[in-house]
Amino acid sequence: MRDFRNYLTTADQEGRRQWLYPRKVQGRFFRARTWLSWLLLATMFVGPFIRINGSPLLLVNIVERKFVILGQIFWPQDMIMFAVALLVFITSILVFTAAFGRLWCGWTCPQTVLMEMVFRKIEYLIEGDSHQQRALDQAPWTPGKAAKKGAKHAIFLGLSFLFSNTLLAYIIGPEQLFQIITDSPARHLQGLTAMILFTLVFYAIFARFREQACTFICPYGRLQSTLLDENSIVVAYDYKRGEKCGPLRRDESAAQRQAAGNGDCIACHQCVVVCPTGIDIRNGTQMECVQCTACIDACDDVMDRVGRPRGLIRYASLNGIERGERLKVTPRLVGYTVVLLGLAFLLALLLFTRSEVQTLVLRAQGALFQKMPNGHYSNLYTVRVVNKTSREIPIELKLENDIGSLTVMGGDIIVAPQKQAETSVLIELNPSAMKPGTTPVVVGVYSQGRRLERLVTAFIGPRDDRNQ
Ligand code: SF4
Ligand code: SF4
Repeated sequence: MRDFRNYLTTADQEGRRQWLYPRKVQGRFFRARTWLSWLLLATMFVGPFIRINGSPLLLVNIVERKFVILGQIFWPQDMIMFAVALLVFITSILVFTAAFGRLWCGWTCPQTVLMEMVFRKIEYLIEGDSHQQRALDQAPWTPGKAAKKGAKHAIFLGLSFLFSNTLLAYIIGPEQLFQIITDSPARHLQGLTAMILFTLVFYAIFARFREQACTFICPYGRLQSTLLDENSIVVAYDYKRGEKCGPLRRDESAAQRQAAGNGDCIACHQCVVVCPTGIDIRNGTQMECVQCTACIDACDDVMDRVGRPRGLIRYASLNGIERGERLKVTPRLVGYTVVLLGLAFLLALLLFTRSEVQTLVLRAQGALFQKMPNGHYSNLYTVRVVNKTSREIPIELKLENDIGSLTVMGGDIIVAPQKQAETSVLIELNPSAMKPGTTPVVVGVYSQGRRLERLVTAFIGPRDDRNQ
């Protein structure tokens, strides 16, 4: 084994890119990943069209600051909830990774699913397995080679366009995407630019950049050294059983191998040639390993052929391999889990107590208090109501403390779905109920008799109570 710490598998000593040609893999894990990838891809394509109570399943419209998760509409005003949800997400990654390593990367990450289950499979279909691809790349340009390369890149571009449209559907919604596609291009220059940019980025990643997205760009891989410990379950080589590695001689029995000091690893390199990041798992857990299980399938196949038990490479922890321990609940894991449960509880509380509207009551800019002919004092306010739901909401405003009256200046307030409405409100107070300077007043926000919110605002009056 070469000194793997001093070399990058994807670059030569001058730092030039070394193109990887991972061999086609087959086996039980690959089959399971294939089925899961179909499910994930179907969900990804159907996702933008799924509606929950009229709202999309997921919408992340950063431009218009509109966010919908599982049919729940979130506004920039829901910032605290977002922050808590983000903390829940990060903590669950910590817990999950500490226990099960990069299971996400190998099985569900869009980069791995699209690269290994879509683009790579098309490449195998057009250019053949790894040795044929290598030979094709080294061969001089001929019409046949140009046709294969042209067909591959045309399909890659088409798929990138499809994925870019799907991503856009999650950002702006399928209706707006349909408009961009069907309307005159001049009316949707922004949308078309985004579409072309996304397409080119997808194409660049899957046609050229490939595994480097995981090994150079993705921060999650780099966090592994801090998240994993000797009890984490990862794709691991059982060095106790495998070492010392040595080629299998013809007609060599297991007893003869053992007598020669050899383990079960026959140094066939099949685990290396299938690896999409080009590493040798026998060197131990490495940052580049995306836990794709290809080496497990390849090695199991070798073990079957040489009549040794499967699982020389398998899901195991370091302690599992060294001492035969099963998944252990460590104090670190307990600590992470307690924090996660606490945050999840807080998030659930925020979600369940979340109001359907968000109202802001502000004193009208530049307006002073007024003394009315009846001796009462008045303040003018601007009220802004945000409707966080996907249905129309009629709003009534009431003064909750019985010390005056509230008049909505612009008539009935009806807030359209996912929109906001603004109106002016005049509050009048009886001087006998007022304090010198500022008097707190409570405004109730109602819809069809049901109170949605209660807001406290300041009513300004004269400081000197002789004026009253
Ligand atoms: S595939 Fe298995 S037997 Fe072959 S080199 Fe890798 S670990 Fe050893
Ligand atoms: S070492 Fe094995 S699990 Fe890790 S990326 Fe390579 S093939 Fe996949």
